[in-house]
Amino acid sequence: MLPSEIISKVPASYENGLASGSLFFFPSDNYIVQDTETGLNLEIRLCSALQHKPKLDTPHFEPSAQPQSKVDPFVPPYDPGLFVGDLTSEDGEQYVVLLNKFSVVPRHFLLVTKEFKSQTSPLMPDDLLQAYALLVAGRKTGKNMFAFYNCGDLSGASQPHKHLQFIEVDEDGPPVEVLARSVSLESQGKPFTIGALTYANHVFRFPSNLPYSSIDKREQILANAFLSLLDLVLSTVRHDPTYPTGPPSYNVILTLEHLHLIPRRLETHTLEETGEILSVNSLGFCRNAAGQERT
Ligand code: AMP
Repeated sequence: MLPSEIISKVPASYENGLASGSLFFFPSDNYIVQDTETGLNLEIRLCSALQHKPKLDTPHFEPSAQPQSKVDPFVPPYDPGLFVGDLTSEDGEQYVVLLNKFSVVPRHFLLVTKEFKSQTSPLMPDDLLQAYALLVAGRKTGKNMFAFYNCGDLSGASQPHKHLQFIEVDEDGPPVEVLARSVSLESQGKPFTIGALTYANHVFRFPSNLPYSSIDKREQILANAFLSLLDLVLSTVRHDPTYPTGPPSYNVILTLEHLHLIPRRLETHTLEETGEILSVNSLGFCRNAAGQERT
């Protein structure tokens, strides 16, 4: 299926998944809170149904080729109630699109590598290209979405099989995107940092014609952007002894306009008031962009 076909199939597949009982939707309350430091409107979603969910151990990701003993939910046979389609690209059908089985946001879907690849591995040019193609296809049908990737032990990921995730947002995109857009750049094509944020972050602004560029051009720009940001993540981690040693963990946020990489030093944030421990993934940096966590 082409990216446009996948995108047009998602809403009906989602309704079908719900109706067939394959997919669970957890209603949540959404609060908009203004952050005093940045002035940014943060979106905080409270999902009481998930509050008492037993905490699954964070998988210890092995970069080795094989998944661990736990059942991998991202291998065939796919649950027909979660399956959207195989994504067709230049290289054949390397990816499958599945709905998130446990949705807090409607139509949350995943782009999964068909062959097992580790969630500790960096995004490859084709991962970025296919993810971007889905965002472009979404925009053509009036949907604003962004993609995210939780990479490594401390990134808040729960599945070791490589998957990017997609969520619909309003026109402004995730709050952190509003901040990224507000940064004026002296020279285009170079990574920058959103100084207003309280945590290390590395961002790349794409040329405005990227959604209309040829596949080759797009791939080159996306891959170079990712590599330049990954370099900065590695140097942030290496030059700061408060980051743990070993393979770096980081979160990735991809929009049509920007790529964001956020190095992680802690997987969780402990709420001061209650002592509750929250696992924080990429969404913590999109919606709750100025949280107190020291990443
Ligand atoms: P992460 O926690 O970042 O690794 O993302 C894993 C995603 O997969 C989460 O959004 C989960 O809700 C979702 N998920 C877990 N099990 C399944 C499954 N069997 N089918 C589809 N999605 C799943």
